[in-house]
Amino acid sequence: MTLIKSISGIRGTIGGMPTDNITPIDIVKFTTAYARLMKSKHPNKRITIVLGRDARLSGEMVERLVEGTLLGTGVDVINVGLCTTPGTEMAVITHKADGGIIITASHNPRQWNALKLLNEHGEFLDDAEGKQVLSLAEESDFAYPEIDNIGHIVMREDFNSKHIEQVLALPLVDKEAVRQRKFKVVVDAVNSVGGIVIPALLRELGCEVVELNCDPTGEFAHNPEPLPENLTEISEVIRREGADLGVVVDPDVDRLAFVMENGEMFVEEYTLVAVADYVLRHTKGNTVSNLSSSRALSDITARYEGCSYAAAAVGEVNVVKKMKDTGAVIGGEGNGGVIYPELHYGRDALVGVALFLTYFAGLDMTMSELRRSYPAYYASKNKIQLTPEIDVDKILATIKSRYSGERINDIDGVKIDFEHNWVHLRKSNTEPIIRIYTEAHTMEEADSLAKRFISEIEQICKA
Ligand code: MG
Repeated sequence: MTLIKSISGIRGTIGGMPTDNITPIDIVKFTTAYARLMKSKHPNKRITIVLGRDARLSGEMVERLVEGTLLGTGVDVINVGLCTTPGTEMAVITHKADGGIIITASHNPRQWNALKLLNEHGEFLDDAEGKQVLSLAEESDFAYPEIDNIGHIVMREDFNSKHIEQVLALPLVDKEAVRQRKFKVVVDAVNSVGGIVIPALLRELGCEVVELNCDPTGEFAHNPEPLPENLTEISEVIRREGADLGVVVDPDVDRLAFVMENGEMFVEEYTLVAVADYVLRHTKGNTVSNLSSSRALSDITARYEGCSYAAAAVGEVNVVKKMKDTGAVIGGEGNGGVIYPELHYGRDALVGVALFLTYFAGLDMTMSELRRSYPAYYASKNKIQLTPEIDVDKILATIKSRYSGERINDIDGVKIDFEHNWVHLRKSNTEPIIRIYTEAHTMEEADSLAKRFISEIEQICKA
């Protein structure tokens, strides 16, 4: 049983005691805190908040609590119902709302839910605002408005089809070119809201769609994180159906992974690489991903004259900020999160699918041939469990000084870029753990680099 309060919202398991789990009382408290922040940001204005949710089983219960609480705090609500994270973000922008709440625990299993909090740009709250929500949630002296000042539902609408239209209207999405190829695509949407939007988008693009786990019942057919070990079923179906590719999304549709015609993973890290390759062909500009993402994006960016790559700290908020600072034309996260600012600053699997298929339609090759055209990298993800008395910052500082002759980035833990591989060490904010991410040209090399740093950290601990 868990309740995690962080600057990006609250996340927890349903049921049990308040403050140990995400219970109705916790939901009301945090929703009130968010409404207060939004009202203080826009004083003397009637506030409108967009509310959307993924299809998880607790979604309806949480939605009613959040909606009722917003109305009780004097905020008007546009309820977009079953909607993706990027769709809810686009609804905030489209309706010029003052903020948004998405009820989703993203890739977490069925017993989890969470509130993701958006600002008036349809982007996640920044660090300072997130902290304000956390501290406001601890206060109990807020007077809720009286009868003439309670909020109202100003609109209930299905925004998904509008979001699809907005994606298809992008200049770099060539609907006709994709339609002509009549791709056969298998979709695994893990029985969440992706089961509504992804097949609909693909049919608009003239694809023959084979639906797998596309009923938005919230009964996740497998662990909902789009990782190879959770995606065995789609591999079989692609081979059996002779499909051109597979599309996999997480429950709130901000992460996108492709599966190749041979049933093997295109690998989540390469979603952004391929989409960036296409975007840079048509739009000169910079790229951004987080420090734990594949070097392949930096390599691909270097193929285009005048374009450069920059790394951000882990977390969508940090990636978006870096993208704005560097004027990036495409960016995101290696976990299949594509951010295309031409539409909005948020990870959006629909944009990823539409841009990728336009690109793929113009190529005369299979998915696996395309994959082979990119530099091959393999990532190894490990962690080292420490005891609570160990000073993790000191360990990271020791590593940093030992490797001071190498290319080091310390905006988020310590990342060391060696010539042919890299290691990224990050501490966890909640547990005495150091996460060790490595990437190299072979899996063996990535694993042995990780082992080398694990034993180095163990030695530092002993000393
Ligand atoms: Mg997600």
